[in-house]
Amino acid sequence: MFNSYQTNTLQFNAAVCNGCGRCCAVCPHGVFSRQGRTITLAHVENCMECGACQRNCPTNAIAVNSGVG
Ligand code: SF4
Ligand code: SF4
Repeated sequence: MFNSYQTNTLQFNAAVCNGCGRCCAVCPHGVFSRQGRTITLAHVENCMECGACQRNCPTNAIAVNSGVG
């Protein structure tokens, strides 16, 4: 099975994440997992670099170069 984790550009900076959960809500591939206000990259290999999480993150905790994966 293709594992895009080797090639995708998703970067998550937990230090500036405020736990709002928007990334979880908008990601169509369930990449993010939320427990309370703690966000983790549960399935980074599923990221298809659509960019929705980056566009909706209010703290710029996420960076992804769309169109690469
Ligand atoms: S770029 Fe798209 S697929 Fe990847 S984590 Fe963000 S919302 Fe999910
Ligand atoms: S959208 Fe940004 S600030 Fe909100 S939970 Fe996701 S990474 Fe954290």
